[in-house]
Amino acid sequence: MSVSENIAYQKCINPDCQAEFDCGEAIFKCPKCGELLDARYNFDKIEVPKKLSDFGNRWATRNNRLDFSGVWRFRELLNFCDDKYKVSIGEGQTILEQNTAIAKYLEMKSDSLFLQYEGLNPSGSFKDNGMTAAFSHAMMVGAKSCACASTGNTSASMALYAHACELKSTVFIGSGRIAFGKLSQAMDYGSQTIQILGDFDDCMHQVQAVCNKLGLYLVNSLNPFRLEGQKTIMYRIIEQLGWELPDWVVVPGGNLGNSSAFGKAFAELKELGLIDRIPRIAIINASGADTLCDLVNNKKLVWNDGRVDQKIIDDYYADLTARNFSPHTCASAIEISRPVNLKKCLRTIDLCNGVVRKVSDEEICDAKAIIGKYGLGCEPASAATIAGLKNLLAENVIGKDERVACVLTGHVLKDPNVTVNYHKEEQGPFSNPPIEAPNDLDAIIKLITQ
Ligand SMILES: *Cc1c(COP(=O)(O)O)cnc(C)c1O
Ligand SMILES: [Zn+2]
Repeated sequence: MSVSENIAYQKCINPDCQAEFDCGEAIFKCPKCGELLDARYNFDKIEVPKKLSDFGNRWATRNNRLDFSGVWRFRELLNFCDDKYKVSIGEGQTILEQNTAIAKYLEMKSDSLFLQYEGLNPSGSFKDNGMTAAFSHAMMVGAKSCACASTGNTSASMALYAHACELKSTVFIGSGRIAFGKLSQAMDYGSQTIQILGDFDDCMHQVQAVCNKLGLYLVNSLNPFRLEGQKTIMYRIIEQLGWELPDWVVVPGGNLGNSSAFGKAFAELKELGLIDRIPRIAIINASGADTLCDLVNNKKLVWNDGRVDQKIIDDYYADLTARNFSPHTCASAIEISRPVNLKKCLRTIDLCNGVVRKVSDEEICDAKAIIGKYGLGCEPASAATIAGLKNLLAENVIGKDERVACVLTGHVLKDPNVTVNYHKEEQGPFSNPPIEAPNDLDAIIKLITQ
């Protein structure tokens, strides 16, 4: 029997290769051609619920740990491993907030803006959606130790899941490039942390080589099973919209795992007849790390049924190298110039009629302050969504009455330095600095009541 007759299998995304592998293999890249791999399913062999609302009914049985998980509640849609391997620490208990105040600030129709707070995950970012799936696969293949390169949140999430599974974990971080909230988590959860004199792209390069040499299980978003978990962010948005679709999903773009996963989620739901149209997607880069934006909008790079023009990418990266370019943005989670999921992301843009934009650090920090003031707050990378949305509304690409879901990827406490600097140094119009007062009751009362 060929692997493509299995319930689930892995398949190379290169149409000229199409190599297939068993899910029991932990290979992360096609050994034949080096391209990315997808998890694929034979849905006719899986008892997928007939209506999306059947997934929601599992809330009633949430004393079952898999029904409690906001990822595994949708398990038939990521059916690559047996329940006995599934690792869950209560991820995906996140909310979609209808935010009328920010809608008003953006001059949108008041009921059309929704914020998906992925910062409410156990380690404080959306990465837990992916990690629960990757670690379930790690358990399935009998991994003993794992590793990742990280701008911060991947390491925090990996460290948490690794100790839940009793695996040894090693994090590769760039020197001086990690927000303190995230570094503190990796150390506290017991990961071995290796700080490399380089940026994220250097770490990504090294970790792949180390994993190959030492047989460590790699949990970066290159791992196709991690992306399977991240599909569920879209399922939960639809769930919280009463099983209706948004018109737009807005997401920050770093290594492009999320955008890749979201497109795959919609493609599969459509294939299953569970949705009847595909929402559009807007992917927002930081202007100091705008590879995707540049490649798509200026170099006209497209998916082209999987036959992506590799020369455009090679030339672009060669130029980055020649210029000794290192990305720079206060949104450290998206400070990446060679995104590993680039091709899968192009597939999403093709499927979802997507657009890509970039926003400055100043726009990011102002948007972050707005999200803090009127919502539950988020870290800088997440705020790129509202900054990007503001520009797309001004361009009339997104209409004021279209239903928009912004994915707020990480918690406000992840990066207190950016927040404190913005407010204390009065960096923008929404700064709210502390007021100095003498140690004197009358003077304090005067300050509060003036
Ligand atoms: C990882 C991360 C991103 C980038 O997501 P990709 O899937 O790599 O594009 C954005 N925001 C936060 C908070 C992150 O941790
Ligand atoms: Zn291949």
